[in-house]
Amino acid sequence: MKNKKKINKITFIGMGLINSSLARDLKGKNFYNFSTVYSRRKSTLRKIKKLNLVDKIESDLEKSVIDADLIVVGIPVAAYEETFMSISHNLKPGAVITDVGSVKKEVIKIVRNFIPKNVSFIPGHPIAGTENSGPESGFKGLFKNGWCVLTPYKETNNKEVKLVKKLWETVGMKVDIMDEHHHDEVLAITSHIPHIIAYSIVGTVTNLESSIKKEVIKYAASGFRDFTRIAASDPVMWRDIMLLNKLAILKMLKLFKDDLNDLESAIKKGDSKFLLDLFSRTRKVRKDIIK
Ligand code: NAP
Repeated sequence: MKNKKKINKITFIGMGLINSSLARDLKGKNFYNFSTVYSRRKSTLRKIKKLNLVDKIESDLEKSVIDADLIVVGIPVAAYEETFMSISHNLKPGAVITDVGSVKKEVIKIVRNFIPKNVSFIPGHPIAGTENSGPESGFKGLFKNGWCVLTPYKETNNKEVKLVKKLWETVGMKVDIMDEHHHDEVLAITSHIPHIIAYSIVGTVTNLESSIKKEVIKYAASGFRDFTRIAASDPVMWRDIMLLNKLAILKMLKLFKDDLNDLESAIKKGDSKFLLDLFSRTRKVRKDIIK
C-alpha cells in the first residue's frame, strides 16, 4: 500500500474512549474512504451507531477485518490473544494493523504469533486519555499536541510505520519511535506508578473509620481530589496494565519506595534541608513540564 494514497477501508476493533476519539478526529479528514467498527456488546454497537462515528457497524469480528487496509485495535490488552487469533485468517495481504494498548512488550509477545508474513503489525500507544470509558466518553481533540509512541520490533515492515505515523499525525499527535522495553519503563514511572499511588491513597481513605472518612471527603481539596480522579480510572484496564507490565512497574516501584523511605526519615529527623531541597527540585520539574 502506498502511504501517500488515501486508504480505502479502516476497521476499528473496539470503540471506547480511545478509538471513538480517533474516529471522531479522523472523520472529515480525508484519511479513508470507508470505515467499519466491531465491538463485542450489542449495547456498545448501538451507542456507536447513535454517535454516527463510522460508515458500518459490524457484530462479527472475523467479518469486520475483511478487505481492511488499516486495522486499529482499541480493546483491553488481556483480550488481544483471543481477538488476534480470530482475525488472523481473514486479514488482507498488505494490511497494516496497529493498536493503542498501554503496554508494549507483552503486546508484541502475544500478537507476533498471529501476524501472517504478508501483514504488518505496528504497535502503538497514544499517550492521551481520561478516567472515563466507552464510546460516549470520547471527544474530538483528545490527541491534539500529545505524543504517540510506536514500538516497531524485529519483524516489523518499516515502510508501514509511515502509515501509522501519518494516522496519528493526522489527529494532531507528535510521534516517537521507541524500543518496547524502554516504552514500558518510561510509562511505568510516568503513568503506572502515579496510578498505583492514587489507587493506594484512595484505598487507604476507604479503610479509615467512617467518621474520619466523611471528613476527608467533605474537606477534600485539590490534592486528594486529584487522586480520586486518577483512582476512578477503568478497573479492568488498570488491572491489565499492572499485571502485564509487572517487571518494569516493580523496578520503578522499588526506586519510588526507596525515595519514600528517605523522605520519611527526613521528616522523622526534622531534616529541613532535605525537605526544602526536594520540594524545590520538584517544583522546578512542574515548571519545566508546563514550559
Ligand atoms: P474503553 O473505553 O473501556 O473501551 C473498551 C473497548 O474494548 C470497548 O469497545 C469494549 O467493547 C472492548 N472490550 C472490552 N473488553 C473486551 C473483551 N474482553 N474482548 C473484546 N473487546 C472488549 O477502553 P479505552 O479506554 O478506549 O482503552 C482501550 C485501549 O486503549 C486499552 O488497551 C488501553 O490500555 C489503551 N489506552 C487507554 C487510555 C485511557 O486513558 N483510557 C490511554 C491510552 C491507551 P464492548 O463495550 O462492546 O464490550
